[in-house]
Amino acid sequence: MSVETQKETLGFQTEVKQLLHLMIHSLYSNKEIFLRELISNASDAADKLRFEALAKPELLEGGADLRIRVSFDKDAKTVTLDDNGIGMNREEVIAHLGTIAKSGTADFMKNLTGDQKKDSHLIGQFGVGFYSAFIVADKVDVYSRRAGTAASEGVHWSSKGEGEFDIAGVEKAERGTRIVLHLKSGEEEFADGWRLRNVIKKYSDHIALPIELPKEAQGEEQPAEVEWETINRASALWTRPRTEIKDEEYQEFYKHVAHDYENPLSWSHNKVEGKLEYSSLLYVPARAPFDLYQREAPRGLKLYVQRVFIMDQADQFLPLYLRFIKGVVDSNDLSLNVSREILQSGPVIDSMKSALTKRVLDMLEKLAKNEPEQYKGFWKNFGQVLKEGPAEDFANKEKIATLLRFASTSDESGEQSVGLADYLARVKEGQDKIYFLTGESYAQVRNSPHLEVFRKKGIEVLLLTDRIDEWLMSYLSDFDGKGFVDVARGDLDLGKLDSEEDKKAQEEVSKAKEGLVERLKAALGDEVAEVRVSHRLTDSPAILAIGEQDLGLQMRQILEASGQKVPESKPIFEFNPAHPLIEKLDGEPDEERFGELSHILFDQAALAAGDSLKDPAAYVRRLNKLLVELSA
Ligand code: ADP
Repeated sequence: MSVETQKETLGFQTEVKQLLHLMIHSLYSNKEIFLRELISNASDAADKLRFEALAKPELLEGGADLRIRVSFDKDAKTVTLDDNGIGMNREEVIAHLGTIAKSGTADFMKNLTGDQKKDSHLIGQFGVGFYSAFIVADKVDVYSRRAGTAASEGVHWSSKGEGEFDIAGVEKAERGTRIVLHLKSGEEEFADGWRLRNVIKKYSDHIALPIELPKEAQGEEQPAEVEWETINRASALWTRPRTEIKDEEYQEFYKHVAHDYENPLSWSHNKVEGKLEYSSLLYVPARAPFDLYQREAPRGLKLYVQRVFIMDQADQFLPLYLRFIKGVVDSNDLSLNVSREILQSGPVIDSMKSALTKRVLDMLEKLAKNEPEQYKGFWKNFGQVLKEGPAEDFANKEKIATLLRFASTSDESGEQSVGLADYLARVKEGQDKIYFLTGESYAQVRNSPHLEVFRKKGIEVLLLTDRIDEWLMSYLSDFDGKGFVDVARGDLDLGKLDSEEDKKAQEEVSKAKEGLVERLKAALGDEVAEVRVSHRLTDSPAILAIGEQDLGLQMRQILEASGQKVPESKPIFEFNPAHPLIEKLDGEPDEERFGELSHILFDQAALAAGDSLKDPAAYVRRLNKLLVELSA
């Protein structure tokens, strides 16, 4: 090794230190994955070189046969990985092997608990990558040279994984990256041809880049020069026929493309021929990545054109609400010098996007049907994202709707487990609507007075308590021919679920209570848009309904939180004529007492709806006055 120049010692970014610590302490049960991670990086580096060489063929000088070589030295206790991919220059080495660039990493690290079992799951969401080298090594040397730079521009990075790394300039004859792992004591088993071969076969067979090991000498004679032997299949997985690919291979390939540590939930592998020609291999992850809700988080598919890697995170092929899908798409129609700008739109992209979207929705539908338990897990992780679908993707609204899951009055668990098809299978005779109620939490809506009449009649109501539910429902008007009805909104009409006698009786009561309605209007004045007799209450004295066109509580809160002006709207006050309190109110001759009691009922109805009171002190004062009178 030649003289080193420009030596310096730099500290790792705090997040890297935390990650290293965690890696070493949490992932000890599956140490061999370090090899998969490093090979995966080398394969990416080869992909990047091939791509850059499309425009600059001279980058391939010194050898266009890209490969990764894995060797070992039993005496020195080292394992060495050597690739002739894109390599890194000094700045890149410092940036890539000293920091974690992903946004939100600091927040993610804060979530670590110190509980190793839990943390190893978390770290799975994060992806382990290069730093996994320190699971088995107590010192790592990286020698790298970027393709297209001179041999003198090599870089040597070295670290014990303890907070800092050394970096120096070094002569490197070939482009690419060589990583030397100095194995910890106790990890010497990896300096072994048989062991390495097995690990590589197990995790990296799908890698399209040839992975070579030194041919083991036969007998005593050592050949003068090392002979290399390719030990993986070295063909792009998605180009092989489905029937020949084992589940394990699909799973390992997923970990490579998704930088995930865990197996995917499901996948869909397809080859399209005809007007357009492309292959796709799409995966549903088992777990949400930590940055799912970060706007600038990477998303999208790995794009290949005629087997040549073009870019990571091509986000033009799937809508935003399917941003959690990982995988590859390999097109024969796009040009090799396609750019992000060109990808923005155009007939080829549009038609691939709509076909891939449908594939994903079909895959999810299948998962929901065949593996309901797994689908539950999927829903927990990604349901909220999928709920963005109906607003974004009008054409697939119905398909997306079948995938939605809700809490419901039919399921005491409160879990979001009821699909619209389940709901429809249970509708009452004569029921032509799908009823739902939105609110802040399951606990709050479960006992809402709005549900009383439904409980009495045994009609199921969906309980929607995610922040975006009210917004979601504004995009869903009907499902399978049945309209959605917000039970807290407007003048509830149960249609055929009320018999003719019911309706007649309701009209009569309404007529009989016209006087009370007028008195309440006078008492509540500006607070309400309307006062009317309720037919939806059995136990509660009164309730507030939202006007047909008004914003509900959730939307109001979202607007308020984002600093927008919320249009003013007043609730409709409905009272239950059969309730003893209302009967008492009706018989109250003193207008002042009537007014006080009306306001208490109004405020109580607001509280039951999960709203806050405009003047809580006034409510308390009125109520206390009443209590004093009662106990007097
Ligand atoms: P990830 O692969 O998820 O980005 P890693 O920590 O594994 O994270 O790697 C960080 C970065 O270091 C990579 O994105 C890549 O830019 C660079 N890198 C790692 N290994 C190599 C390699 N063998 N050749 C070139 N660049 C590499």
